[in-house]
Formats: sequence, C-alpha cells, structure tokens
Amino acid sequence: MPYSQVTARMKSSITCTLCPKRCVLGLNEIGDCGVRKNESGTIVCATYGYPCALNIDPVEKKPVFHFLPGSSILSMATAGCNLHCKQCQNWRISQQIHSINELSKYIPPEDIVTLAVDHACPSIAYTYTEPLVSFEYTYDCCRAAHQAGKKNVLVTAAYINPEPLKQICKYVDAANVDLKSFSDPFYEAICGARLKPVLKSLRIMKDSGVMIEVTNLLIPKLNDSSEETKKLSDWLLNTLGENTPLHFSRFFPQNQLEHLEATPAETLLNARSIALKSGLKHVYIGNLSHGEGECTYCPNCGKLLIERSGYTVLLNTMKNGCCQACNRSVYGIWN
Ligand code: SF4
Repeated sequence: MPYSQVTARMKSSITCTLCPKRCVLGLNEIGDCGVRKNESGTIVCATYGYPCALNIDPVEKKPVFHFLPGSSILSMATAGCNLHCKQCQNWRISQQIHSINELSKYIPPEDIVTLAVDHACPSIAYTYTEPLVSFEYTYDCCRAAHQAGKKNVLVTAAYINPEPLKQICKYVDAANVDLKSFSDPFYEAICGARLKPVLKSLRIMKDSGVMIEVTNLLIPKLNDSSEETKKLSDWLLNTLGENTPLHFSRFFPQNQLEHLEATPAETLLNARSIALKSGLKHVYIGNLSHGEGECTYCPNCGKLLIERSGYTVLLNTMKNGCCQACNRSVYGIWN
C-alpha cells in the first residue's frame, strides 16, 4: 500500500498520496497530519501499532444509530489528524501527537481483535481522531477484525484520496462521516481542508456498500444557517438517498472556539425540521436531550422502532431489520 511517490523535483522528497493535501516530504519530514514521515525515502506511519485511546463504548456514542443498536463497540484511536478544526473536542490527541507513541504500548492488529473478543464486542470503531491517516494500522486492524468475524465502523472526516478509500472500504461495514459544513470557505477557514473531496468520499463509500451515517455539528453563526442546512440535506437526499441517517449535533464552546455560545436548541430543532421536509427519513439530534430527535421511526408507517435516551436504548421493537407493524425493511445493519 505505498501511498507515496518520489517527486522529480527533489530525489529525496516524496509526495504522500494518501490524502488530498499531497504533502511533499523531504527526508525525516512529517506531513501535515503529524503522522506520516519520510524515513530514508519511504513514507512510514509513525503511529502504527500505538493506539492512544482504547475504550468500550455504547455504539450509540459514535454516533451510529442504524448499526447493532444497544451493543458495545471497542473504540480505538491513534494520534493525529489531517484536519485542524478549531472546534475539535479531541485536540489533545488529534493535534498534539508528539511523544504520544512513547507513552503508548505497542498493540498489533491481532491483539486489538482479541480485545474485542475478550470484551464481547461485536464490532470495532476507529474513532476519536482521524483513523485514515494511520491508514496501514487501521487497514490491518479492519482486515484482522473481519477474519475474526467482527465488524468495523469508521468515524471519520473522510478526507482521503479515492484509491486508498476504496481499498479500506472492502473491510468497513459502517461509517459515521463528519460532514463539517456544506461550505468550502468554512472547510478552509475552520478545518484546514476542502469540501469537495469529502463529498467524493461519501459517494465512494456508498458505492462500496458501506452503511453511512452523517454528522453535522452546528456551530452558531459559522455553519448553522437554514440555507446551508437545506443545501446539505438536499445533497444527502439526492446523492446518498432518503434513508441516510443524519445527526445534527450540538456544539459546546471549546478549543479555539471557546468564545462562542453553545448551539441553541431551536437551531437544532429548525435544522431537523428542514432536513425532514427535504425528504430525509432519519434525522437525529445529538448532544441535546430531545425525545423525538433521539428515536428511530418507521419511514413507512411512522411507528416508533427504537427509543433512546442519550446513549441508552430503552426500547427496540424491530424484528430482523423490519418494522413489525408494516414489515418495511429499515436501512442499517441490525443483526
Ligand atoms: S496523509 Fe498526512 S502526510 Fe499524507 S498528504 Fe495527508 S496530511 Fe500530508
């Protein structure tokens, strides 16, 4: 999986081709993600085998609501990210990666899978930071997990080039993609990235058969206008389909956006209403207690299928992925 090429410009330089940033790295230089390094003319993944976080979470925390509801998921992170979002809540591990490996213990992919087996987790999440910049490690863990009958969930900003994405999608069952905004200037100014490659990744994931859920964190005055929400909802509807779950998540002041206020509840309710009116069938509200916005309803007859409160499933009336009242199958991975 050599996602790099020697540049003609300088013999000792290599272009990392993993993500759209295409960093040109001289000897011993590290890319913008803080993870990939030119070591003796080869790009190495400095975080391979060194997770900086390992937890067992409810799957609802990712959030993925249409994937084995109520189950536990082994959740791991490696340090680093190729985005630099001013609102990042995990910036200590996504942006300050120096010496994290020295504090971590080497855990090969097979041992990650063993942890999932030992803790009776049917799936593994690659989450908290950006799993795709530690591409080789994430890929090897995903492959080992499938060999052991475990499922894989990527929680990602999906800022990656098409070829490696297609390659890893063979081993990915579900993903929550953080669609930060539907505005390219927002992506540039707030995240240090661009919108277009993310949209392309979403299409590739869908074409590869990955069950996709999308999260949009609404930040007051930066990406929360009704117009933007409408554009985002329409794009999801027309490109990924009406059944794609969309989570509007509440922002809390942190990191470089500490001066802003938390997202008002009305903004989240308004966004949900716009997305539902656009035609999306499963629209959720996150980081705010809101009965309806946390529950799953049958897209056909409207019956309550899954009742949640926070990360807890209170009721699940589905049978074999279908509504018991009208027998309509519901988008997701349920068994
Ligand atoms: S993965 Fe990292 S090193 Fe490679 S192009 Fe992206 S930011 Fe640069």
